Amino acid sequence: MTQEEKYEKLNRLIAESKKTVFFGGAGVSTESGIPDFRSKDGLYNVRDVQFEQYEPEYLLSIDCLENEPEVFYEFYRQKLETSGIKPNKAHYRLAEMEKAGKLAGIITQNIDGLHQKAGSVNVAETHGSTYRNYCMRCGRRYPADYIFKSKTPIPKCPECGDIVRPDVTLYGEMLPEDQIRKADRYMIGAELLIVGGTSLTVWPAAGYVSRFDGHLVIINRDATEYDRAAELVFHESIGEVLSHIVL
Ligand code: ZN
Repeated sequence: MTQEEKYEKLNRLIAESKKTVFFGGAGVSTESGIPDFRSKDGLYNVRDVQFEQYEPEYLLSIDCLENEPEVFYEFYRQKLETSGIKPNKAHYRLAEMEKAGKLAGIITQNIDGLHQKAGSVNVAETHGSTYRNYCMRCGRRYPADYIFKSKTPIPKCPECGDIVRPDVTLYGEMLPEDQIRKADRYMIGAELLIVGGTSLTVWPAAGYVSRFDGHLVIINRDATEYDRAAELVFHESIGEVLSHIVL
């Protein structure tokens, strides 16, 4: 198939689908300059003198938050401040697809809130979001920048004095039930699943794709083990591929 024929087919699949869902991984945000945690140049592999004594995954674990909160927040503030980062072409295009009635929902593994920034409404964040925070004791919610603007090393809840934590799934924690339920709702009756920017090796990504029996499109820089199950596979950037969708 020529590239042109592939884009024609993609548009046909979208036009014929009564319900289309986008499932996105780190690759959606790397085009905005956010590193993929697990990639070769990702966050966990940038050895930092200050954090050298720690295993990278420990720094974003519930163990670290509970046992060494000052270390957790130092790392979190240094590495996860994404408020100045802008959505890219892929985020905007997905938001336009939703507005045009061509996208029922986005399921994302990213925690950067860029889909909402771009204007998407139906977003299930299976690993939570750095844009939401809550008190570990009383559950009171705090705005996006609360942790980053906190004057104390460990951000505290003025109501009850306990720790305010990000609503992000840390290593050692279960995925957030409400977001998983939302994602499941998007998948019910979905006829077309467009997967972008994930190698599909990590749960729940692999689960969504292996259980899906509709039309599958994969957009990823590298090959994935589901490429053979897909009707279309693109290795171009996600923004580039989505820009060929006729709305
Ligand atoms: Zn509280």
